[in-house]
Amino acid sequence: MFARVAVALALSASIAHAQARPRKVFISVDMEGISGVVQPAQLGPDGFEYQRAREWMTGEVNAAIAGIRDSGPAEIVVCDSHGNGQSLLIDKVPEDVRIVRGFPRPLEMMQGIDETFSAAVFIGYHASEWTANAVRGHTISSARLLGVRLNGAEVSEGIYNAALAGQFGVPVALISGDRLAVTQLQHVAPSAEGAIVKEPYGYHSANTVTPARGQAMIREGAARAMAKLGSLQPYRLTTPVALEVGF
Ligand SMILES: [Zn+2]
Repeated sequence: MFARVAVALALSASIAHAQARPRKVFISVDMEGISGVVQPAQLGPDGFEYQRAREWMTGEVNAAIAGIRDSGPAEIVVCDSHGNGQSLLIDKVPEDVRIVRGFPRPLEMMQGIDETFSAAVFIGYHASEWTANAVRGHTISSARLLGVRLNGAEVSEGIYNAALAGQFGVPVALISGDRLAVTQLQHVAPSAEGAIVKEPYGYHSANTVTPARGQAMIREGAARAMAKLGSLQPYRLTTPVALEVGF
């Protein structure tokens, strides 16, 4: 069952072009798409490997930060967006980075974004609900929602969050996750760089790179992404936006 509501999102006419903005990058990090993560064992405080997975997640965020800063200084905000919103090991992140923690918050996985950012980066992302064979594929809540559509099209969290960033004129520069998470996002953000750290076999299994290799891929991807900052286009929905949520 889909409840259909029309949502009018106000578009600010004064939004500056991304290329005129300072080097300020918003990183939204989830956990299902981190290298090595395939099961609840890694995804929550009760899992035997959650503490290790937090280290892998933090390593991938730090790799993205390093790749962004390979070409010069940049202001960074990291939005800790998995589970309780407190998975990132914040004492292992560079001290000049700001971190958004805890739920609830109005913009969920994108809390803290605004029109001053020049790019968004998605780390550890997964594919949408109904994506066959994707590792941990779901949209927002696997327990409560049976999918989310924007303007009639099924969206992943990556696409939903790209649209949210687009409302502020912010393009997505890089996404990491399994192959399906990356290719779904690139349908709406074709110039976004991708770091594919897992080949999915199903909801609970994948062929994954090691955390070290995943971090290297993400650092390289972030550096490539920053090189094309001026040419990236925000993903903008036509308004009014139709939001459909399945229960
Ligand atoms: Zn998620």
